[in-house]
Amino acid sequence: MNKIRRTINIGALAAVMAAGMVHCPVFAASVAENPAPIAAEAHKAAEAVSVTVGDAVFYLKSPADYDALMAKLQNRFKAEGATVRRMDIEPQIKAEAVKTEEKILTVDEAFKLLLTGGREEAVYVAEETESLESVAKKFNMTVDEIKALNADWEDPLHKGSKINVLKPAPMVTVTLQQEKKAQSPVAFKTVKKEDPNQVKSVKKVLRAGKAGALETTTRVESENGKVTASVTEASRLVQEPVDEIVAVGTKEGLATGSFMTPTVGRLSSPFGPRWGRFHYGVDLANATGTDVVAADGGVVTRAGMAGSYGNLIIIDHQNGTSTRYAHLSAFNVKVGDVVQKGQSIGKIGSTGRSTGPHLHFEVRVGGVAKNPLDFIKL
Ligand SMILES: [Zn+2]
Repeated sequence: MNKIRRTINIGALAAVMAAGMVHCPVFAASVAENPAPIAAEAHKAAEAVSVTVGDAVFYLKSPADYDALMAKLQNRFKAEGATVRRMDIEPQIKAEAVKTEEKILTVDEAFKLLLTGGREEAVYVAEETESLESVAKKFNMTVDEIKALNADWEDPLHKGSKINVLKPAPMVTVTLQQEKKAQSPVAFKTVKKEDPNQVKSVKKVLRAGKAGALETTTRVESENGKVTASVTEASRLVQEPVDEIVAVGTKEGLATGSFMTPTVGRLSSPFGPRWGRFHYGVDLANATGTDVVAADGGVVTRAGMAGSYGNLIIIDHQNGTSTRYAHLSAFNVKVGDVVQKGQSIGKIGSTGRSTGPHLHFEVRVGGVAKNPLDFIKL
């Protein structure tokens, strides 16, 4: 008798019937044979909505309550973020406007009844020696009902024995056809644009990339909340990705790998500790306006005021080294300029923290200041 996959829980219904909550014709038969009590005539039949589910009938106050019950049922089994396209309920639920003297359920009572008023077959595994009677009690069944469900049974059951029972379950199977939309990012492409005016290793983003978005529509089918099918129906590009455009220099680097003395001058202060601080370069003193040249070829990465450095030029030689020229009185280059070894870049001055016109010259390898006199000859 495995037909009882999901049926009305007669026991539970009988209990709610007794409480006057629901009317079940099968069980009401014996009641109906008896003449109706005269006292009932005194009650006034009220407007209501009768809800028929298979053999069971219960009453709600109004069509609005019925709609609320259906909405509650749909929400209970709906997947998160999904839209319901269609809801089917088995057995079919019929609603009718009637007048009744029966008890009228609230939406919550009716909802609870629909979710727990049924029974479904389950396998019970005994955890210890147990009589059929105690198992029957656990599931609100009779011993005969258990025997009817099982071709073979033993009494008592032993630890690990399996037996079919009926446990509380929804009175109905709610099948939902749902639609779920989800967005996922689409990576942008990077397009390289060669720039013959820039040296190699120069990369400049001309236009920032932007990820696109792909919207996927999935059809999800479920029975009482359990997903039975999930099929991707469509994918649609809702946001086109924007390519990133990067300019890449193609010009060979200009560094020769050796430094020349950047100006004519007298060494007025060497590299190293000085007055309790550290002097990161050498000072070459000469008159304001004396020419300063690039110690090697490279790209100007800075040309402007820089605190105690005064007017500062930094040249990146693109080989891991860079040079700094400070306290200048004039610039002949600007940021981004490609300079050749020996090319005039500015003039000696006394800007920033300086006591007189001189060039402060630094050599950095991997960003660390080194003694310039290890690289140039005065
Ligand atoms: Zn200095």
